[in-house]
Amino acid sequence: MPLLATEAIVLHAFDYLESSRIIRLLTREAGVQSALARGARKSRGRYGTALDLFAEGSAQLYVKPNRELHNLASFEISRTRGELAEDIGRFTAASTIAELALRFAGEADNPQLYDTIADVLDRIARSAPERTIEDGLAGCWRVVSVLGFTPELSSCALCHTPLRDSDDTTFSHSSGGIVCPACSKLAPGGRRIPSAARAAIRHWLEGDDSVHLIDAEARSHQRLLREFLGAHLADDRPLRAFAVWEHERWSAA
Ligand SMILES: [Zn+2]
Repeated sequence: MPLLATEAIVLHAFDYLESSRIIRLLTREAGVQSALARGARKSRGRYGTALDLFAEGSAQLYVKPNRELHNLASFEISRTRGELAEDIGRFTAASTIAELALRFAGEADNPQLYDTIADVLDRIARSAPERTIEDGLAGCWRVVSVLGFTPELSSCALCHTPLRDSDDTTFSHSSGGIVCPACSKLAPGGRRIPSAARAAIRHWLEGDDSVHLIDAEARSHQRLLREFLGAHLADDRPLRAFAVWEHERWSAA
């Protein structure tokens, strides 16, 4: 069996039979891959905390051609990101990032996506409890952008007329961004967004995570992002981690 050696982040992990664990990894070299870690539960010493959610390190996989599940040969941990488990807002935001990667990354090698996911998880791990929504939103938009779905935010997505930054505009998911007043009549289902909301998304896409939102704005941003993902990325399956991230905070409040 060929051996794949790659940097990897654990995005999903569950126990399998009595002694093993199955993990889903985002790898730098081969996108999302699943691996069986034999004996991972019997002997904690073999992997330590390396197979915990959001851990990152150097993985070696015995790749079975044309099979979904490979065998994990070794995993040498470089960071645990244990801070993500210390706050529910961090955890649900990070789980949403993991869900986007698992669902949309595919098996292609995509170092830029890998580095973005790693950086986004690091930022959320450092996030203050009252800042997790903003940092989650920032991370999701960066991931969306690396996946090739950057929304048009400067000029009309349909006729390319430049629009003023100070104007409230219509965001049309089906058109892939903001649209001018004339085109908004042709693009049903658009949503009015204030100029500040457009500026926030632009900041996030540029990696600037200094945006502050009040609760109502944060909710609107999560809704806009959910609709955008539904229009451009989602398959028929619901985004379950996103739903938890979106509703947990507001129902607990
Ligand atoms: Zn237009």
